[in-house]
This record gives sequence, structure tokens and C-alpha cells, in this order.
Amino acid sequence: MAAQARIHCFVIATNTTSPEQLAQIALGRSRHQRDGNDYFAVSPAACHDAAATTPRDPGADMRAIAWNMNWKRADANWSLLRPRADLDCDIALLSEATPPPGDLGMEVIGDEVTIGRDDVSQGGKKTRLWSTYVASKRHPVPPSDVWTLPPGHEGKDRRAPLKCSRPGAWAAAVVPLANGGSVTAISLYGLLDDCSDASVHRSISDLTALLEDERYNGLLLMGGDLNTLASQPLTSRALARDQGVLDRITKGFGLIDLLHEDLRMNHPDRGRLENCKCELGDDCRHTWTFRHNSDLTIPHQDDYLFASGELAERLVSCEAFGAFIEGEKSPSDHQPLVATFKD
Ligand SMILES: [Zn+2]
Repeated sequence: MAAQARIHCFVIATNTTSPEQLAQIALGRSRHQRDGNDYFAVSPAACHDAAATTPRDPGADMRAIAWNMNWKRADANWSLLRPRADLDCDIALLSEATPPPGDLGMEVIGDEVTIGRDDVSQGGKKTRLWSTYVASKRHPVPPSDVWTLPPGHEGKDRRAPLKCSRPGAWAAAVVPLANGGSVTAISLYGLLDDCSDASVHRSISDLTALLEDERYNGLLLMGGDLNTLASQPLTSRALARDQGVLDRITKGFGLIDLLHEDLRMNHPDRGRLENCKCELGDDCRHTWTFRHNSDLTIPHQDDYLFASGELAERLVSCEAFGAFIEGEKSPSDHQPLVATFKD
């Protein structure tokens, strides 16, 4: 995909509006009402700040995002992924996503619903009408012929097929690239009703066959809302458990944390995230991706984007898109992570 100048603003609309109209709203004012519908955009000053600090990507040919769309607003938030809108991309790893509008031009791979283990009144199978998806306009397909073990010998076949043990916790797809290659894309969501670290560990266990399959792990992208804060006290078990999730992905499977990689390549002097509550001191490399209703001013990170070494070598940038503005709403309580890659 050719690099395009993008307007670094968020806009949320309660009806269908063209990208051009949304851009005008975003640039012209921070709040807008029309025909009984509410529109919202970050301030123009914030747009300019974001644009000034976001590297331009003249050589970037692939754009990927990871975003918790916030199920309450997901229907409206799909407009941000339309052609030429802020989150127009080749690959989207989405969570808390509702099915996309039919005219969006993106295909999704996922379970459509999330079936929890919670709520005894519903037999421990509370069903939510949102899910993880891999979305793309490049005709994604599910990975096929993926098994836990090689074929058996002498009549013994102990293989098990790739399968999601908690519907809605992950989705995987193979996305063709313009140059003839393909990217294996995995969208993850840490289910809170399943204890988030246990949920992500379960998903990684499900996905081990895919992560180890050399037909699929050359160019591989995996990410989403892991509900893994990793900002608890240094000696706490909670931090050890969250860090264990991240270490399993990075050290265990050799995937690269793209937010860290961006800081290393493009912002080596950023240092500690301002106001971060972690106890990592100067080693803090967190990015503000999530804010909680209990205190909207405290930065949290529980969204991540990882790539195989081969794909990470092509990384141009990976950042949280935009910024939370104190006192202002956002399309979601999560910021999208946006990564660009060279061909
Ligand atoms: Zn930190």
C-alpha cells in the first residue's frame, strides 16, 4: 500500500459518514452535532502534535493495527477503518469487535461471538456478540492443515488440529501480500472471566502448533488486548504472572515486541513513560494504550503487538495512534497500535 498523508485525529460518529466528512469534522472543531447525532474529535492542536511526532513512512508498504474497539462503540468505530480513514490498513487485529458493516470492503476471520466461562445464571457460557477478528481487504483465509504433531508412523497418529478452546479469545488468518508472500496474522484477547494471564496462556497453548509451523511462522504478526498490565509492584506475584505471559511470547517463541523495537529504533531517548505507575524506574518502556474509568489520567498498557524476526526486520514504526486527551472522550478506552512495514 502506498504511503498516504493521514490526519491524526479520532472521530466517532453515530451514523454512517464519509471519510471526507469525518476529516472535515475533525479538523474544524472538537465537537459536532448534526441531525440529532453526536460527533466527536480530538482538538486540532492535538492533531498537529500527533502529526508532528509521528514519523512519516515514505518506504512503508504494509500497515497493520491492533485495537480493542470497545464493544459498546464498535459498530460506529468501524468507520475509522474505511479507505483513507485514520485506521485504513492492510491487516487489523481486532478485539471486542462486532461484525463489520457489509459495505466496508474488509473480510473478517473470527468466531463472531465470545463465549465466557462466567455467569452461572447462563450455565457458565455467557455469550457476547463481539469477538476477536483478523480483518483485511486482501482476502484473508484461515490457516489450514495445522497440527500439533507430525504425522504418526506405523498406524499411530497422535496429531490434534489447530482449534480455539475459548471462542472469541483468538483468531488467526493468512493475509496475502502484494508481492506474492503472505503474513500469518493472529488477534489475541485476554478474557477477564478466565483470568487474563490464564486466558492468554491458554490461547498461546492453542496456537503453539501454528507458531511452530514453518509454513506459517516466517512473516507472523500477533497482538491485541492481552489485559496484561505488567505494572504491578516489582516483587509481586501479579507482576511475575503478567511478565510470564510476555516472556513466553518473546523469549519462548522469539517474537519481537514492536513497541519496544520502535522505541529502540526511532525514540532511543524517550526514557520512562511519563506518569507510569510501574516500578521499573528508568527501564520502563511502557506505552500508554489504555485508560481506566477509575482514573482517566493514569497511563496503562495492556495492548501489545509482536512480530517474527523476519517481519520485525521490515518494521518502520509502531506506535499508539493519537493520544488520550484529559477531559475528552475517545472512540475506545484503548488506543490502536499502528505498525508500518517496508515491502
Ligand atoms: Zn512503566
